[in-house]
Amino acid sequence: MAADTDLVAAAQAALEKAYAPYSNFRVGAALRAESGTVYSGCNVENSSFGLTNCAERSAVFVAVAAEGAGLRIKAIAIATDPAVPCSPCGACRQVIAELGGPDCRVLYRSREGIEERALKDLLPDAFSYRPTKTKSRPSR
Ligand SMILES: [Zn+2]
Repeated sequence: MAADTDLVAAAQAALEKAYAPYSNFRVGAALRAESGTVYSGCNVENSSFGLTNCAERSAVFVAVAAEGAGLRIKAIAIATDPAVPCSPCGACRQVIAELGGPDCRVLYRSREGIEERALKDLLPDAFSYRPTKTKSRPSR
């Protein structure tokens, strides 16, 4: 995990940009793409609360905008202010699963300190849309 100290620091720095006037719960996230590039994001709240976007998804969307559909996430770190135990919400776990896969490493604060878990442990049996090829009609 020592190699991920930069990722945790980037998540911590990202929360400084958070727009959280309603909850005052600032969150930052930073991910490392397979390319090696680190992308970060913060939570962005809205007075219409349902439109609020989490830091994790903000970071993922920034990364996709930069690298395109081929983005693969190796690891993602989450930091919060106040620094309380906080793992990614279900929606973010699903988004991370889509572009990081089951072995993507997730770092977040637990009661014991910074914890690292594989995405598959946080979201077993993630939703996956893999359309099967339809059989072509028999020729006549
Ligand atoms: Zn979330």
